[in-house]
Formats: sequence, structure tokens, C-alpha cells
Amino acid sequence: MDIDQPTVLLPGDVRMPLLGFGTWQATGQAGYDAVLAALDAGYRHIDTATMYGNEEEVGRAVRESGLRREDLFITTKLLPDRVGRERQTIEASLRALGTDHVDLWLIHSPPSSPSDSLLMWRELLAARDGDLARAVGVSNYRTAQLDELIQATEENPAVNQIRWSPMLYDRQRHAEHRDRGIVLEGYSPFKSTDLADPVLTRIAAAHDVAPAQVVLRWHIDHEIVVIPKSVTPDRIRANADIWNFSLTAEEMRDIDALGS
Ligand code: NDP
Repeated sequence: MDIDQPTVLLPGDVRMPLLGFGTWQATGQAGYDAVLAALDAGYRHIDTATMYGNEEEVGRAVRESGLRREDLFITTKLLPDRVGRERQTIEASLRALGTDHVDLWLIHSPPSSPSDSLLMWRELLAARDGDLARAVGVSNYRTAQLDELIQATEENPAVNQIRWSPMLYDRQRHAEHRDRGIVLEGYSPFKSTDLADPVLTRIAAAHDVAPAQVVLRWHIDHEIVVIPKSVTPDRIRANADIWNFSLTAEEMRDIDALGS
């Protein structure tokens, strides 16, 4: 992967860009336009899911971007009710995306029973071993649920994608991921953030950027993957324009404190 943005290394020598583009609720023509605009703005990591109903649009935008597949990182997810039908599900995702592999395949949320969670996890590992996904992980798992998978298979999910933002900052949960070598990927960075919060507006003014950009940079400086979504061209560009400043240790602490 040839990119000049910060990445985090997943097992198997897979480089995951810390900034990705979220696509939930970006469907049809608007979804296609948004993904194409995102790739044009410099995002090299796209987050989709079977549930979002936009894998085809994502695939079409990727092809029409003219970018090389190996320079892109594509994540998709399968719903927990697909237990027993994992292989069919990833094959359908790959057909829709127009690619022979994804970079990351996630269980969208934990199946209701631990045994189904484990069955599904074993199928994800088989898909990885069969080269359909370069890395595999989970989403919306609690630490105890991560440990059930690790204890049974001795294979750690590469990533856990969970809701995360300054207002949800939880130092201990972050450490629990780090201790297990699991990359924390945050979703909905804006939905649980008050962008008018005085701490964020003060820090934004000091760097001559917008509070939304401070929120994204805070994730990056914590080495947490962040996947903002927008269908608005100006916001798509602004959310990717976060490489020309970084936060001081004191600013990071002030933002962390919003979560307490
Ligand atoms: P976000 O926190 O990314 O917020 C998206 C909203 O914020 C949209 O209304 C968007 O508006 C607006 N917005 C975007 N940029 C800005 C900005 N610079 N300033 C102000 N407002 C802005 O929410 P999501 O829930 O979409 O989360 C991001 C991604 O995470 C999803 O798209 C999806 O890929 C993933 N996700 C995963 C989940 C899981 O269970 N694994 C659950 C939820 C999300 P507009 O589009 O109109 O510009």
C-alpha cells in the first residue's frame, strides 16, 4: 500500500489507514458520489457493510476512481443473523464490491449466543486463511466477548469497531484493546459530540481549524482509527484535511477529560 497517511499495522502485515470514510446512510447515487468525492479528497480507506445496502455503489466508485486496488483499504461487515451462511455472505459482498478480497471483514455486532459468536468467528478466520479477507475482526464487542473468542481460538480479532468520541472517551477500554493487540476503531465520531463545546472550539481556534477536525485529529493522535461519514463535498474534504496540525499533550488531556 503506497500512501502518505498514518496507518496502523494489523497482523499479516496489513496496513490500515487511521482515517477512513464512513458510508452508513450514504446509498444510491448519493452514496456513489460521496465515495468518489472521498477518494478524490484523499481517503484511502472505505467502511461499508452488507447492512448499508451500498456495496455496489462503493465498488463502482472505487473502480471509477482509477486508484489501484492495492492502494485502498476496504472494510465490510456481516450481520450476526448470517451465522451458518458466512461464506455465501462474503462471496456476495465481494461480487457487489467487484473485488476478490476485502482488507477487513467484521462481525457487525455480537450474535446473541456465545456459541454462535464463536462459530461465526471461526468462519471469519477461515475466510482470512482462504484469502477472501486480509484481516478479520469484530464490531460492538465488549471486552469479555473479545476474550471468549481469544480463549477459544487463540486468535485475536485484528480490530474492534465501536462507538467512540471525546464524550465517550474511556481510557480503560482503550487500554484493554491495546493490551490484547486489538486495534480500536471508532465510529460515529460526531453523533455523540457537541461540536460547540468550549474545549473543542478553543482548541480549534488555536489551530485555525474546525471543531470537527479537532475531533478527528484527537482520534488519530491516540492511534484510534476514525471513519467520519458525510455526503456533503465540503465536509468530505474538510474531514480529510487534518494532516497539517497536531494536538499538544495538554490539548489531548483536555479533550480526554470531556469523557469523564
Ligand atoms: P458520524 O459521526 O460520522 O456523523 C455523520 C453525520 O455528521 C452526518 O449527519 C454528517 O452530515 C455530519 N457531518 C459530517 N462531517 C461533518 C462536519 N465536518 N461538521 C459537521 N457535521 C458533519 O456518524 P456515523 O454514524 O455515520 O458514523 C461514521 C461511520 O461509522 C458510518 O458511516 C459507518 O461507516 C460506521 N458505523 C458503524 C457502526 C457499527 O455498528 N459498526 C454503527 C454506526 C456507524 P452530512 O452527511 O449531511 O454531511
